[in-house]
Amino acid sequence: MKTLMTALILGATSLQAQVLPNAAIEKKIDALLSKMTLEEKVGQMTQITIESLLKTQDGKVILPMTLDPQKVDVAFSKYKIGSVLNIGGDAITRDAWQKRIEILQKAALAQRLKIPMMYGVDAIRGNNYTLDAVMFPQQIAQAASFNREHAFRVGEIAAYETRATSVPWVFSPVLDLGRQAAWPRIWETYGEDPYLVAELGTATVKGFQGPNLVTDKFHVAACLKHYMGYSMPLSGHDRTPAWIPERELREYFLPQFAHAIENGAKTVMVNSAEINGVPVHASKHILTDILKDELHFQGFAVSDWQDIQYLHLRHRITKDNKESTMVAVNAGIDMSMVPFDFTFCDDLIALVKEGKVSEARIDDAVRRILRVKYEVNLFDEPLNNPKDYPLFNGKAHHQANYDLAAECITLLKNQNNILPLKQGSKILVTGPTANTMRSLNGGWARNWQGTNSDETEKNHNTILEAIQQTFGAQNVAYEAGADFSKLLDVDKAIASAKNSDVIVLCLGENSYTENPGNIGDLNLDKAQIEFAEAMAKTGKPIVLVLAEGRPRIISAIEPLASAVLQSYLLGNEGGNVVAHTLSGKINPSGKLPYTYPRAANSLINYYHKYTETKAYDEAAGYDPQWEFGFGLSYTSFEYKNLKLSNNILKPNETLTISVDVSNTGAREGKEAVLLYVSDLIASVTPEVKRLRGFEKIALKVDETKTVSFTLQAKDLSFINSALERVTEPGDFEVKIGGLKADFVYKTE
Ligand code: BGC
Repeated sequence: MKTLMTALILGATSLQAQVLPNAAIEKKIDALLSKMTLEEKVGQMTQITIESLLKTQDGKVILPMTLDPQKVDVAFSKYKIGSVLNIGGDAITRDAWQKRIEILQKAALAQRLKIPMMYGVDAIRGNNYTLDAVMFPQQIAQAASFNREHAFRVGEIAAYETRATSVPWVFSPVLDLGRQAAWPRIWETYGEDPYLVAELGTATVKGFQGPNLVTDKFHVAACLKHYMGYSMPLSGHDRTPAWIPERELREYFLPQFAHAIENGAKTVMVNSAEINGVPVHASKHILTDILKDELHFQGFAVSDWQDIQYLHLRHRITKDNKESTMVAVNAGIDMSMVPFDFTFCDDLIALVKEGKVSEARIDDAVRRILRVKYEVNLFDEPLNNPKDYPLFNGKAHHQANYDLAAECITLLKNQNNILPLKQGSKILVTGPTANTMRSLNGGWARNWQGTNSDETEKNHNTILEAIQQTFGAQNVAYEAGADFSKLLDVDKAIASAKNSDVIVLCLGENSYTENPGNIGDLNLDKAQIEFAEAMAKTGKPIVLVLAEGRPRIISAIEPLASAVLQSYLLGNEGGNVVAHTLSGKINPSGKLPYTYPRAANSLINYYHKYTETKAYDEAAGYDPQWEFGFGLSYTSFEYKNLKLSNNILKPNETLTISVDVSNTGAREGKEAVLLYVSDLIASVTPEVKRLRGFEKIALKVDETKTVSFTLQAKDLSFINSALERVTEPGDFEVKIGGLKADFVYKTE
């Protein structure tokens, strides 16, 4: 125990640098606010789904989607709403978006104070709700690239292609920590490590928002999701209870939000679920004390879908919608994603009149919303000109997509260097994910669940099509063999395997997101396991290609495969990238952004405690299928000369750590160099190791590069049991690529 010697760095989150409001904008807000009626203010706090404004028949949206002028009039003239979201069905063209926004903006600007409405959209991995916009790999795949530049570029291109439809606000990135492997939204995250999430999340925010934070017509406001602690449901099922002590919240779940906010992220969306029995939409502690007071967040917090109403309907902590509105707005929600009706407006106006919500709280919320509207330049340019976006869906954007996906794919096994496959090999391609765009793109594609990707993305290659193009159709046979949870004509696949040199077995998951993706068993479906076993019996070597949103357990069949390629949800370039990796055109350099579990009841993260190791628990200690950060290459890398600038670190000093990395193999390659640090003894049980730095480098054959990292005391800090962020003096160990070195942190 070293508590007596504890060096308190700073308050838990007061590391926070403040993003200060712009004085000229604040002046404009003062002037506008002073003219606004209560009704106008409450309208600004209201967000409605586009579905509620479309023409319907028998409760169903009439296709093609058309705005209903009467509904639009009620929304803007009567309720003065400030924001609209979403798509209302399947993706539409740029042209249709432009027309939609024009009508809505006209209705908003026709009101007394001419305040533009702000449209928000789930542009999760590119502007997916616009037909033809680039669909990048999902975040979990992006994370495997360990490349900040790629994350930045995704943000930049997504922003450009979103602004090309006159939409200035995206509900992205997700900064939830992906450490509950069964959770159906794991693939929306950057994986299990808080540092990786913070770095890639902030890079994406910078790409979205541009260099000046006050965005121009090529950038959009980001929305950090889902603030905070959403990703750890105990059951693994979406939006079910989590129990996260405040110390853990601050250690693992808060830093990535703090980092992105410090870098100017403009909005956050709130966690729909409950933590320790308190729905986050009702938590003043999380929404006001931490977000606004501690982090000095200047933007606004939008609720998630219907979540204020759910305080009553789902969580049962309030007696009706009105009480829900009171609790949520007083807790610190600034905008309600209502999204279907105007009850929020009526209730909130009544609550203010009854003195149950203060006018000061309303003014604070509206000030925040107007601030973002000014910052995204909506008042000066409420509509963008489609002609200003010639790069939309252009070659450069597609190339960026391919280049990123090529750095995400992760080689997990390559016995006897079976990969790359030789040209001329006779290949059987089989399995449920072999010939579908759904398993490459996952959810949040051209609709919420990604169900229509096979139609909308038919111009892109499935894995099968790309393998045919790469190896020659005459060399490639295809049999589906099995569906996701059902065997098909296995005998036919066996017969075809017998005539092939190698089986490319494509297994994994169909598209899903949120609740529909809940599962009761993390094991890969039985039918797929049985199919893999049947294929193995043919005696032909198996290259297992996984296309899946979360790490489904494959320990039963992993030994049957000579090679394993993890393709996550690589997006529209996924088929090409898989084929080009099989052929060797791409040398894989992805590394796992999560721990790949071996057994469904052993979901232990890499930053586990000593009591979770095999040294302590021989039978059931940490023994994953593959570790976080694991990934092979077709070349080999050697790490040498790990050097520390000093073996003592003191407060206000910087320690430089360097290592030489050489490409000792026969082809050029990229390597993510990962720096781990272990705090050997600490007052709160230390993790075995924590990621404290990473750098992606490219190396030609025989080339050596020196990679340097710098560390300061704050980079080694943790939250102690008094909820203070501290770095305790004592011994630390640095680990890079199998090398180790020690240093001591001293405060005197
Ligand atoms: C999801 C959010 C999404 C929102 C708007 C919710 O169901 O949790 O991630 O941004 O819907 O579509």
